[in-house]
Amino acid sequence: MVTGGCGYIGSHTVVALIENGFEVLILDDLSNSNKEVLDRIKTITGTRPKLLEVDLKNSFLCDNMFCYNKNIEAVIHFAAHKAVSESVEKPLMYYHNNLYALINVLVAMEKYNINNFIFSSSATVYGNPEILPITEQNKTQRPFSPYGNTKKVAEEIIADITNSNKDFTAISLRYFNPIGAHDSGQLGELPNGIPNNLMPYITQTAVGVRETLSVFGNDYPTKDGTPIRDYIHVIDLAEAHVIAVQRLLENKQETSFETFNLGTGNGYSVLEIINTFQKVINQKINYTITERRPGDVPILYSDIAFAKEKLGWVAKRNLENMISTAWKWEQNYRQEQN
Ligand code: NAD
Ligand code: UDP
Repeated sequence: MVTGGCGYIGSHTVVALIENGFEVLILDDLSNSNKEVLDRIKTITGTRPKLLEVDLKNSFLCDNMFCYNKNIEAVIHFAAHKAVSESVEKPLMYYHNNLYALINVLVAMEKYNINNFIFSSSATVYGNPEILPITEQNKTQRPFSPYGNTKKVAEEIIADITNSNKDFTAISLRYFNPIGAHDSGQLGELPNGIPNNLMPYITQTAVGVRETLSVFGNDYPTKDGTPIRDYIHVIDLAEAHVIAVQRLLENKQETSFETFNLGTGNGYSVLEIINTFQKVINQKINYTITERRPGDVPILYSDIAFAKEKLGWVAKRNLENMISTAWKWEQNYRQEQN
């Protein structure tokens, strides 16, 4: 079962799961996605996964999904709202959606005796880290946004459950900055309204949907003054989910709740991303330096050793590939709309 499977990371993961022989059931309320994604998954894999349209905040409906769908072996839980700035304006909406959906899924899993759980977490749980690169042993800190805090609280809830129920096993995957798209140009990131994230803002500026990209501050203590992040290809991320599910299904986990960073270990500044983008697509984009965005930390990049050692997973795709696939998706999507 893949909650939020019609979304950006979920849809790429569904493709990877199908390609690895899994039968997938998607639960999604389509609050930030579209049913069309099922046809796109079919075009890529030959299989149209089943979607049950449901708001997981609703405990009765959530229970029904499990009650009428026996034989679920594992749940990958992507369903959440994810816009950082919106969460600052509407914290309750974020705590309500992200935590109710999580708790309802966990309650149903306990009731129907499903014991394998993968959770979508984020590097945001490290706050502004004192030690770089970030290992899983870095202390977590209260994240700067209510969105980020839903991830930290969620991990604490999951830890409590794995401590109390010896049969329940979980893996939390802490993503760094997922970008890129499927090679086919059929799947990619499609934010609602004005993008919050850097890469969709860049591709939408290059395609002419946005006029100018704002670079949020160039006075950070980094090589060119702009913040550094660890960008990771969404397909690499999707593949890590397949490995994590297999690990739980084959009882290979070493503790009942494991946490892994998913990044490449490479940090790129905002200006490096823009420059590489311009090179890859051979086109200039309009950008301007503006004020810092509240809550942004200067530098985040992952130590990749633990995921490599325990999962046997390393990200394979480079920045050029992340950019060219994101650009291909943006162009394809805009052409389809015309
Ligand atoms: P997305 O918005 O594209 O996908 C989330 C999906 O969940 C959407 O299809 C949405 O309709 C669905 N959903 C939301 N609330 C729901 C509810 N109450 N019931 C049922 N479905 C619901 O986001 P994404 O980028 O694919 O992110 C997936 C997960 O990864 C999220 O949990 C997100 O917080 C986490 N994450 C994302 C990033 C990132 O940069 N994209 C980074 C770190 C962690
Ligand atoms: N950023 C930017 N302009 C934008 C969006 C993002 O300069 O329109 C910067 C942001 O300040 C951060 C980096 O790009 O340093 C990555 O931001 P994003 O929102 O994509 O991910 P985050 O690291 O905040 O989760």
